[in-house]
Amino acid sequence: MRLTRYFLPVLKETPAEATIASHRLMLRAGMIRQSSAGIYSWLPLGFKVLRRLEQIVHEEQQKAGHIPMLMPTLQSADLWRESGRYEDYGQEMLRITDRHDRDMLYGPTNEELITDIFRNSVASYKELPLTLYHIQWKFRDEVRPRFGVMRGREFLMKDGYNFDLTKEDALHAYNRHLVSYLRTYERMGLKAIPMRADGGPIGGDYTHEFLVLADTGESEVFYDSEVTDLTFGDREIDFDNVAECQGVLEEFTSRYARTDETHDEALFNEVPEDRRRTARGIEVGQIFYFGTKYSDAMNAAVSSPDGGKVPVHMGSHGIGVSRLVGALIEANHDENGIIWPESVAPFKVGIVNLRQGDGAADAACESLYGQLMAAGLDPLYDDRDERAGGKFATMDLIGVPWRITVGPRGLQNGVVELTSRRTGETEEMSPEAALAKVTEIYAGL
Ligand code: ATP
Ligand code: MG
Repeated sequence: MRLTRYFLPVLKETPAEATIASHRLMLRAGMIRQSSAGIYSWLPLGFKVLRRLEQIVHEEQQKAGHIPMLMPTLQSADLWRESGRYEDYGQEMLRITDRHDRDMLYGPTNEELITDIFRNSVASYKELPLTLYHIQWKFRDEVRPRFGVMRGREFLMKDGYNFDLTKEDALHAYNRHLVSYLRTYERMGLKAIPMRADGGPIGGDYTHEFLVLADTGESEVFYDSEVTDLTFGDREIDFDNVAECQGVLEEFTSRYARTDETHDEALFNEVPEDRRRTARGIEVGQIFYFGTKYSDAMNAAVSSPDGGKVPVHMGSHGIGVSRLVGALIEANHDENGIIWPESVAPFKVGIVNLRQGDGAADAACESLYGQLMAAGLDPLYDDRDERAGGKFATMDLIGVPWRITVGPRGLQNGVVELTSRRTGETEEMSPEAALAKVTEIYAGL
């Protein structure tokens, strides 16, 4: 993309309404604009990151054997009356009446709708196991929308639902989700720690939230510092292997790590004192096994191998896709702006032309631009007629991980500069060497 042809409305001033870094930077970098409280337009730069996160989520879900689909945002109230949640959900639910006076709602989640689809289409245990998911906008009329996309009213969520014959099978689905979530966050360059969460009125041990540690997080968390050393890495995993998935669950959840809702002071005190940590975290996902809660209420049963009908065991599993954009920035920024991890960067390489209009500089930039495009490295070429300082500030603000700086003086010696946004380190090298280096950095991401 050439910056002169792009839409990147960066702000010089720090917006007064933004109290945390990610909100401030998303506004300043021209990623989002508020349309009303907790509701945002995603401008091109923000949209690019959002799409990239969706893509990673899709890839990892499908590796785990989960099947993508798409349900609507608007739902009929009748299904929610069946489960009893139409009354329970309270003021967080946005209720709408259509022209025929039918009660509708903007979905805050999709258990009812997916259970309805399931019960109308699946009759036999032979069609199980089944996990369906989608990535769709949700609406929750939060009392206090704040921190930009971190606590919006309209937000993008991946929500997946597993249908299984037995509790045992459903717990395997739970473990599969845990593994796929670990991989998903790591691929985004984030450390998200599974912590035991509160099962709410349904109770049970089978729910974990994934938390990114950050001072601006809304949850208070307590953990054994050893959990921060765990990484999934690039190990192979067979998602159909029950013992293997169970092993990963045990590895990642056996140490103490809880949110304030389930925190147990006595248990926490059993952790050696030098490893006890109290901090704040951002919830970026949650997995939940809830048994037959919805299948009982909505009569979603299948024929069992022993004959007769049995209610299916279910779970639901969510990733806060739009919140993740904010969480990523909370975890990756400095005083100059965002520092995208390479795997999610909206533009992978920036080209700064120090003297627009200089024949040699323009030609070198054009050549680099063409080659980066051909290599699939999605460059952003700052071809504006602006001072170098302004160009650098823009690249730093929007967080492009690698910047190639091209100027007439360097070109006389056959070199350009390659600068890392994260470390600030700059190296001089030929344009070919710079191209080879960024190609290598992004290989496999
Ligand atoms: P919270 O406790 O933060 O209100 P939740 O537990 O009610 O979230 P879930 O129903 O578990 O949310 O939704 C799955 C994921 O969707 C959450 O882990 C979170 O990342 C994201 N999410 C939930 N509410 C919002 C919101 N208002 N704005 C942005 N993302 C949200
Ligand atoms: Mg949650």
